[in-house]
Amino acid sequence: MLSPNIVKELTHIVGKENIQTSKEDLICYSYDATNQKFLPDAVLFPKNADEISLSLKLANKEGFPVVPRGAGSGFSGGSLPVEGGVVVSLERMNKILKIDTDNLTAVVEPGVITGEFQWAVEDLGLFYPPDPSSLKFCTIGGNVAECAGGPRAIKYGVTRDYVMGLEVVLPTGEIINTGTQTIKGVVGYDLTKLMVGSEGTLGIVTKIILKLLPLPEATKTMLAAFPNMRDAAKTVSKIISSKIIPSTLEFMDKNSVSCVEGYSKTGLSTDMEALLLIEVDGDSGLIEKQAETIKKVCLDYGAKEVRIAKDKREAKELWQIRRAISPSLAKLKPNKINEDIVVPRSKIPDAIIGIREISKRYKLINANFGHAGDGNIHVNIMIDKADKDEAAMADEAVREIFKLVLDIGGTISGEHGIGMTKMPYVGMELSKTTIDVMKKIKQVLDPKGILNPGKIFPQV
Ligand SMILES: Cc1cc2nc3c(=O)[nH]c(=O)nc-3n(C[C@H](O)[C@H](O)[C@H](O)COP(=O)(O)OP(=O)(O)OC[C@H]3O[C@@H](n4cnc5c(N)ncnc54)[C@H](O)[C@@H]3O)c2cc1C
Repeated sequence: MLSPNIVKELTHIVGKENIQTSKEDLICYSYDATNQKFLPDAVLFPKNADEISLSLKLANKEGFPVVPRGAGSGFSGGSLPVEGGVVVSLERMNKILKIDTDNLTAVVEPGVITGEFQWAVEDLGLFYPPDPSSLKFCTIGGNVAECAGGPRAIKYGVTRDYVMGLEVVLPTGEIINTGTQTIKGVVGYDLTKLMVGSEGTLGIVTKIILKLLPLPEATKTMLAAFPNMRDAAKTVSKIISSKIIPSTLEFMDKNSVSCVEGYSKTGLSTDMEALLLIEVDGDSGLIEKQAETIKKVCLDYGAKEVRIAKDKREAKELWQIRRAISPSLAKLKPNKINEDIVVPRSKIPDAIIGIREISKRYKLINANFGHAGDGNIHVNIMIDKADKDEAAMADEAVREIFKLVLDIGGTISGEHGIGMTKMPYVGMELSKTTIDVMKKIKQVLDPKGILNPGKIFPQV
């Protein structure tokens, strides 16, 4: 609970229209995509770094937690105020400050919606590739904090690869600038990279300098259907070893695709075990040739059917199949445990077969889909949380899945972060010494532990 005096001081900092303390309002900031709920004591809507700085200085003095929040679309509970305190919503800091068409850079505030930024630069013939599937509602600040990726990561990389510099309010309230507006820059430690992916635990990002690319001339989208899952997984590696890097290479297994049928008619025969959604982009002549090569590879390695979209409308229909999966999984069971493991591309068949075997052993329904081009598979274990036995089984299955993933050279999270949901498993991947180094960094920047406590490490 915040004392009336603290609420008064916070109100003084942001103005009375920009603080909420009533229960109805707080509920709106108590959850994210994990569906877990923790009520904050207040929500602030600052308009600039100075107001955030003053709020953090007060938090240090009075000892209350502060949790940054973008759109609350995170899948690991990062924006949840697990110890109460103040949620700092960045939604008012939502301006695109500059798009520099000469130097191919942009400067944005953290609350800018990712998709809106992409469309703004595309209007100028430019391209911002990171494309989390949540791009219509997530924020660039949240993307930076989670180092979000998306289907295009296979060719273009993830958010980290486009962040050139940051303005950050440190947990103690000091404001720093990291990085440069230039492509090169090696003065001092790379604090930009430290901040990207730090899940709102090392500072609140208030300005972001982003790298842009020229917009590719054209794209070509295709869908390949495989009666055998292992063949589909193998084809992923074969496409890349044919020396074509698609801009998207998405995998969907049978359980995922069967859920979509009701939402978006795939028209595919139901004996298909897996689909690959593939897109190439670039020079229009070149991508026609690449599409034909990919079609041949798919057919050579076991695809029964390959559809190449003739126009944008058909491409949109193919994408609709992939986009509808996540929301349609609820058909299987009301709750999902959603993990975003990554394995070396060549190990995708071993991972999928192993995950299916583990799920079967625990009598759990599972659906796998995701960014196969970079080995990032979204493993969804579907359960009914009201069934306590099933929920306990799912926890054990997740631990076994993580062990399998690490044994074959993978990582337990490619883009959703650790937050609170993966906290119990961090020690499976990182050594005690590595965790200690990370904790020391946190301790230096946040000596009182007020910024986003209860995340990433079991105890800080
Ligand atoms: C349907 C759906 C599809 C998704 N698809 C993808 C996908 O393809 N790829 C992917 O990577 N993710 C995906 N996500 C997850 C999520 O959208 C991303 O993690 C996104 O980056 C979160 O952005 P947000 O604005 O919602 O941040 P929030 O959820 O509000 O916050 C996420 C974390 O960032 C911190 N944070 C937010 N803003 C700041 C800031 N300004 N400074 C410091 N810390 C901050 C928070 O404290 C929290 O730890 C998906 C989510 C959904 C619901």
